[in-house]
Amino acid sequence: MTVYNYLDRYLFLPLGDWVYGSNVAAKLEETRLNETLSEAGLRDLQNRKLQHLVKHCYNTVPYYTRLFDSYGIKPEQIRSREDLHLLPVLTKQIIRDNYDDMFSTAVNPKRLRKSSTGGSTGTPLKFCTDAAEWSSWKASTLRAWEWYDLHLGDKIFSLGGSSINKRKQLLSLKGLYDRVIMRNHKYSSADVTDQAMQRNYEALMALRPKAVRGYGSSLYILARFIENRELPLCPIKVVLTTGEVLMPEYRRKLEQVFQAPVYDEYGASDGGILSHECPQREGLHIAEDLCIIEITDKQGNPLPVGTTGFVCTTDLNNYVFPFLRYHVGDMAYIKQTSCSCGRHTRLIGEVMGRAGKLMYNKAGIPISPTVLPMMFYPELNYHNLEYQKVYNKIDKFQIRQDCQGDITILLKLKDPEEQHEQFDYIVTNYRNHFVGSHISLEFVDDIPCLPSGKEDYCVSEYEYND
Ligand SMILES: [Zn+2]
Repeated sequence: MTVYNYLDRYLFLPLGDWVYGSNVAAKLEETRLNETLSEAGLRDLQNRKLQHLVKHCYNTVPYYTRLFDSYGIKPEQIRSREDLHLLPVLTKQIIRDNYDDMFSTAVNPKRLRKSSTGGSTGTPLKFCTDAAEWSSWKASTLRAWEWYDLHLGDKIFSLGGSSINKRKQLLSLKGLYDRVIMRNHKYSSADVTDQAMQRNYEALMALRPKAVRGYGSSLYILARFIENRELPLCPIKVVLTTGEVLMPEYRRKLEQVFQAPVYDEYGASDGGILSHECPQREGLHIAEDLCIIEITDKQGNPLPVGTTGFVCTTDLNNYVFPFLRYHVGDMAYIKQTSCSCGRHTRLIGEVMGRAGKLMYNKAGIPISPTVLPMMFYPELNYHNLEYQKVYNKIDKFQIRQDCQGDITILLKLKDPEEQHEQFDYIVTNYRNHFVGSHISLEFVDDIPCLPSGKEDYCVSEYEYND
């Protein structure tokens, strides 16, 4: 620990809390203590927080008062995660339709913080939080970073779009908070030209951060830029990925180029979800003191552990614009086993990304987004060095599924003169997974990125209806 770490923790952070009306310093101590609780202790804490929140919702939030009454449910009936299924799920559309009635009447409107989802994968959702909710969220992130020996005051280089980078805030109080207290130096991932990558690389080298953080695909573009030019790199302790499904190929490349372990995060500010990999990397530890996660079918019925379904979250800290059983729009499953690190939280096995973007075969089976890039390796074997050579001839790819369920694969090769026939195995790989779909392979000159800078490798118009 350096002098800055101590100054930050015991001087700058409390000062920041005072200026912003937040309480991150206190929440950090609290959340560290929660981590020492037994499994039963953690469940007990979660149940108490849930019961308190449900009463608050019924008594002060017009939407929930109506909902409970119309279903004939008393707040006292909801005592634990297992009772939540009594309530219907909350969707983005329900929130939009009932927006004014989603606020607690017990909250001073001056305390509200307006927020919205990024909208890069759909229509943005407007909602509200307050300083208390934000503090819990921030503290929980800091706690997870401590698992990697990354502490408040350590420098972070961030590359991301709207959700982790807001350029206009650079000179604001928020920007100051990020730079001085979080020491998080944010750069835009929106521009993916070589010139922008050169600037990002130079900023990274000038900063000499302990951690590099960002969208997996954005960091992957930077890593490829560094690798292709054989640029020297300062030592990086850890790489943190967030904001999208992390491809195994991206993780492998990031670890190889940055020479540091990659830890993935899955979170959603709407719904208060936060989960992180620990150094064991056996899944994503759910911050169970922050949120309750259920995995359900479309109608909100809980699914057995290990089954992939819709992520349904209850934010235990948002008292101003509460989310009870909110379908955040992602699909995932909860692992049947706990982590060998000894932490008592449940693990998310795999996040399958935005449900609307998920690809299905014609039998209705979702195909994991992490498998899609794997199919660009002969025999799906990305450990084989010869196969890696073939894969490395591909510069970019995109998989498109039309409304009939048929697949078009776009390939941009590093050398357009390469023999196209050597990539025929890709069609076979896809045909094996997308049984019954017509698969075609097209070679193209370019595949543009999304405005956020994310590489959109999978585009689907197909909706499987059972
Ligand atoms: Zn663990």
